[in-house]
Amino acid sequence: MSKIILAADVGGTTCKLGLFDEKINQIHKWSIKTDTTDPTGYKLLEQIYQSFEEQLSAHDFDFTQVIGVGIGVPGPVDFESGIVDGAVNLYWKERVHVREMFQQFVDCPVYVDNDANVAALGEKHKGAGNEADDVVAITLGTGLGGGIISNGEIVHGHKGSGAEIGHFRIDQDQRFRCNCGKSGCVETVASATGVVNLVYFYYPKLTFKSSILELIKEHKVTAKDVFDAAKAGDQFCIFITEKVANYIAYVCSIISVTSNPKYIILGGGMSTAGPILIENIKTEYRNITFTPAQYETEIVQAQLGNDAGITGAAGLIYTYVIEKGGVK
Ligand SMILES: [Zn+2]
Repeated sequence: MSKIILAADVGGTTCKLGLFDEKINQIHKWSIKTDTTDPTGYKLLEQIYQSFEEQLSAHDFDFTQVIGVGIGVPGPVDFESGIVDGAVNLYWKERVHVREMFQQFVDCPVYVDNDANVAALGEKHKGAGNEADDVVAITLGTGLGGGIISNGEIVHGHKGSGAEIGHFRIDQDQRFRCNCGKSGCVETVASATGVVNLVYFYYPKLTFKSSILELIKEHKVTAKDVFDAAKAGDQFCIFITEKVANYIAYVCSIISVTSNPKYIILGGGMSTAGPILIENIKTEYRNITFTPAQYETEIVQAQLGNDAGITGAAGLIYTYVIEKGGVK
């Protein structure tokens, strides 16, 4: 009888769900709308469970075949307990005991982790990480998130804040305020939001004409506009792109001397900007990184796109239940 892993990647608007086999091969994926009306999280988790139940039976499986349920959540997670300490995008203001709640529905292990960590685990197993034991994934989206896999394990740290690399203070001038309440975090200068921050900071100093000037004036400029204009040769946008690339390279460099990954995987919307961004990151990375720490370390683009989350959520069950026999 074949075994099944259930995976959920909970996002602010949709929950991506998946059925996987015991080797993390995707059998089926689908999504449901995220219910954000219940701040206790119960309603959302119940809907996820019901959806799993429907799809299991639609594929001629039942819960006795389920090895475990892996769940990725957009918020700080205490991995040991499965408690999520608030999640802004889900309107969870208080702590939500996701594991305990989900365990009311199922009779198998439930593992919960932060969405950036599970995305890293997904890329390690089925994406750009090529099953390497030391992999770092950086998600360059509206914010900047990260997951570090070291010696085959997700780095959680003492209270689950390991790999919160978006809040690494890099901008010593602290020009922009971060969502975390502090200022100067790398997220404020090297995410899609950060690109726009830099545009508005540098544009008053602009001494030549930029092709995105109208967009800037109308407050409509996006990171994509900046990278597209840079590709077309716009000097101002090239300048901004290089700044952003240098910040990202600096983060990669610090991570390299910390955990010495085989792959540094760049994902998220910004990672599709192409060579204009990634080649600049690689160049600066090589310039500034302690040489032995960059031997055979490759900076590569993520491969799984939106599937990284569910794949990594299934990967939690593979890593912590199948490989380790349920330890932790
Ligand atoms: Zn921050």
